Parts: sequence; structure tokens; C-alpha cells
Amino acid sequence: MTDIAPTADTTAPFTDLPLSPALQATLAQLGYLRMTPIQAASLPLALAGHDLIAQAKTGSGKTAAFALPLLTRLNPRRFAVQAMVLCPTRELADQVAQEIRRLARAEDNIKVLTLCGGTTMRPQRDSLAHGAHIVVGTPGRIMDHLERGSLALDALNTLVLDEADRMLDMGFHDDIVYVASHCPAKRQTLLFSATYPPGIAELAGRFLRDPQTVTLTEQH
Ligand code: ADP
Ligand code: MG
Repeated sequence: MTDIAPTADTTAPFTDLPLSPALQATLAQLGYLRMTPIQAASLPLALAGHDLIAQAKTGSGKTAAFALPLLTRLNPRRFAVQAMVLCPTRELADQVAQEIRRLARAEDNIKVLTLCGGTTMRPQRDSLAHGAHIVVGTPGRIMDHLERGSLALDALNTLVLDEADRMLDMGFHDDIVYVASHCPAKRQTLLFSATYPPGIAELAGRFLRDPQTVTLTEQH
């Protein structure tokens, strides 16, 4: 993970956003005062319900850019998977899950489950049977759970493709297509990528609806 030191000259405060008092309080506790440029560009659009293609480098604060919208929409009293984040690797999925848990900590009963390959299915199936609000995982393993019927997505309202270009590099194209095809049509889809190769455009054209595009290429 990269440390970020957002500077006052480029970014607006989170208090500009229509976030719940609980999320505002959590952000203040975490010391998140000003939005990073990708957050400032994408959060107003994502919170307004738009599908989004967001292009920005690693360490730019993309996790909060999708975590805050999905947490805003989450109903903690509905114990069903309402948001899903696809990531290229277990390490990234763990980082994303950790950041979502940090941002969700004002609600003590939000369950975030990671579903990645390389471990046996059984414990993940048991955890899913106990219920989760948010799943974060790699496309292959999530596809496995869908094929076996251990993951239900009928309550899903937000699908996030994180580091989409890396997922394609790792050969996850068909798995992503399978998973996205099993999501309810009425949902918000947020696609984050450091680069925008043709494969990403193809995925976006297939699974995003009237997406807004946010590009921050000159970031360091
Ligand atoms: P990316 O996904 O773009 O690589 P991350 O979402 O992992 O970036 O964020 C990088 C680091 O910056 C994390 O440690 C995160 O906690 C921190 N961070 C994100 N947004 C802010 C913010 N607005 N203010 C302060 N720190 C932030
Ligand atoms: Mg990231």
C-alpha cells in the first residue's frame, strides 16, 4: 500500500459529499479530511448512482471511491450480499476488505467476506451460509461459488471491478463475464483500472450502463 498525503490545493473535503453522519464521523476519525483527486472526481458521480469507469494509478485512494458509495446504499438489517468487489489477487482482495471494514466500522454488524482461490471451498461455503453483506474476491473463486449455488446475488446492488486491467492480464476475462452475467441487471457497476486497453472497453461496453468516465493520468 502506498501512503497518500492529499494536499489542500487539489482536493475538496469529504464534508462536501452527501454521506451519512456515521460515515462522516468515521472518515474524520481515520484522518481522511480531504478527498484524493480520484475520489473528488468519482464520488459525486458514484453517489448520484452513475456507472463509472475510473482510471487512476495505484495508491490514489480508489478503494474509498467505491467503498463509500456501496456502504451508502447498504442496508445492514438485510443479511444478504448487496455489494461485490472483484480483485485480481488474494492480497488485493484482503486489502480492499480491510479498507471497507475500516470505513464501515460505525456499523458494528456489517459482514465483509473475502472469497479467493488457493484455499478449500468448504470454510467459504460455511461462511456464506452464515450470511454476508459484502463479498470481495477473485473472479475464479466467485464463479466457483456461483456454479455450486453457494453464493446468491439476487440482493446485489453494486458490482465493482477493481484493477480491471490486471484481472484481464491474469486471464480472468471469461470468469468476469460469467460473474457479471449472474448479477441483477438493476445495479450500479463501478470499474477501476490503471490503464484502458481495448479489453476494458469491451467489458465496460458489455456490463456498464451509460457510464461516466473519470481519468486521472497525470497523477504521481
Ligand atoms: P489504490 O486502490 O488507488 O491503490 P487505496 O485505496 O489502497 O489506493 O489507498 C491508498 C492509501 O491511502 C490507503 O492506505 C488509504 O487508507 C489511504 N487513503 C485513501 N484515501 C485517503 C484520504 N482521502 N485521505 C487520507 N488517506 C487516504
Ligand atoms: Mg486499489
